[in-house]
Amino acid sequence: MPNKRSRKTKKQQFYCPYCQARLWRTGSPKHYIYYQGISEIQKNLNISRKKANFLIKQNNTYLDRSSWIEDFCCEQHGKMWLKISSKVNGLMEVSLANENDWKNTTGTINPNIPNPSVSEFSYRMSRKSKIRSN
Ligand SMILES: [Zn+2]
Repeated sequence: MPNKRSRKTKKQQFYCPYCQARLWRTGSPKHYIYYQGISEIQKNLNISRKKANFLIKQNNTYLDRSSWIEDFCCEQHGKMWLKISSKVNGLMEVSLANENDWKNTTGTINPNIPNPSVSEFSYRMSRKSKIRSN
């Protein structure tokens, strides 16, 4: 049988928040957002306290699999980190990742904020051994 039916999930395209040009994915990992504490979950997911309480059971955090920070590249503006939120209606909400977003990602730090002591440390570490460069 012919597999002609157009796939329902159209490939999402992302656009530069500065110039609206089409963005390229750089192939970075998705840094998923998590929420900590009932009120934060409630606020971000727009759900009832009861539901938030149910979600939080595990370890006081909720990993939002529909929101993440990903690296993109614009021809004009270069690389940028965008926060993507996949909404229930299938639309994607895109915004520049801010410091607060980074705080809520899965164990990552904001690469846009240089931290000399940390990078120096990891530099020295990487000279010693090449473990977990990824
Ligand atoms: Zn741009």
